[in-house]
Amino acid sequence: MEWLLSVPKVELHAHLNGSIRDSTLLELARLLGEKGVIVFADVEHVIMKNDRSLHEVFKLFDLIHILTTDHKTVTRITKEVVEDFASENVVYLELRTTPKRNDSIGMSKRSYMEAVVEGLRAVSAVDIDFTPHNTDGDPVNDMITNDICNGTTRKKIYVRLLLSIDRRETTEAAMETVKLALEMRDFGVLGIDLSGNPIVGEWFTFLPALEFAREQGLQITLHCGEVPNKKEINRMLDFLPQRVGHACFFQEEEWKKLKSSKIPVEICLTSNIRTNTISSIDIHHFANLYAAKHPLVLCTDDSGVFSTTLSKEYHLAASTFGLGKREMFQLAKTAVGFIFADDGVKQDLEGIFDLAAKKLD
Ligand code: 5GP
Repeated sequence: MEWLLSVPKVELHAHLNGSIRDSTLLELARLLGEKGVIVFADVEHVIMKNDRSLHEVFKLFDLIHILTTDHKTVTRITKEVVEDFASENVVYLELRTTPKRNDSIGMSKRSYMEAVVEGLRAVSAVDIDFTPHNTDGDPVNDMITNDICNGTTRKKIYVRLLLSIDRRETTEAAMETVKLALEMRDFGVLGIDLSGNPIVGEWFTFLPALEFAREQGLQITLHCGEVPNKKEINRMLDFLPQRVGHACFFQEEEWKKLKSSKIPVEICLTSNIRTNTISSIDIHHFANLYAAKHPLVLCTDDSGVFSTTLSKEYHLAASTFGLGKREMFQLAKTAVGFIFADDGVKQDLEGIFDLAAKKLD
């Protein structure tokens, strides 16, 4: 486990509000309890519950959002989440979040995202690179980072953002999110994710926004096959997104389609087991995809909600599927090929992995 902690890692499927620290969540709940907005004892019970069905997880997210959705808290949790990932040697993080509007506190989708960017700026425990680079290789914004600070080597993390469309949203709301993503490209927004409760909403509601996003050059990842829905899974695969998340309820036809299209899969082992989307870890489709050399990347999904870390996910894969150091290192390294950031970042990350490879033996 210690070794897996030290290996550089790439995280491509992490939801901001799902990655919140337990301690922060409890602190926020206590505060709102004191103000009489919620009953702390009831909320504490929900937060501390360990096993939740997928349905219960979405109820928990509604509660989390009551606790976290104000500008100051969004900034705080963004900073904490990035620092937590960096502390376990995640060198590249694609963080996704659903821009939220809350008129009662003057929050627009844009101001929500500005609070997220504020959180990135506030990261202090490590160096952070979160804006795209211009043709000279310099960041287009003013966040210039280096590896050496006061003579000591500091950890450095690349962070890029994906904006999520929640399946509860209308076509117009989804389009608003895509337009916001386009406006915020200089702040490291690279693409769009479709997520939220998979039993809610219809594929055709989101399709116009996803098509527009693609036309405009944004990259797309879809939560796909979290529930049995053959039609939707096929429509999603036919859309040819750059990546898909989960892929739990695929049947033979969909596996064939996925494999021939070579769409990389974001695998979230603990999340799938904890929500009972996959009944037992030893029958997880990771094994089949890995054996078929299909592109895949291990991810946390919601490290706070599922009490996991990326190192724990790597450890779980290694111990369940009998993979050794070299295989795990290679798995971590190949994820660089599936990131949405530009070739300059890819080259930097390859350099980081090449250096780490020398220490392998
Ligand atoms: P946020 O977008 O608020 O930063 O992160 C939490 C949100 O991400 C949830 O409300 C939900 O929309 C989405 N999310 C988190 N985990 C999952 C998951 O496992 N499946 C799906 N479909 N959506 C998720």
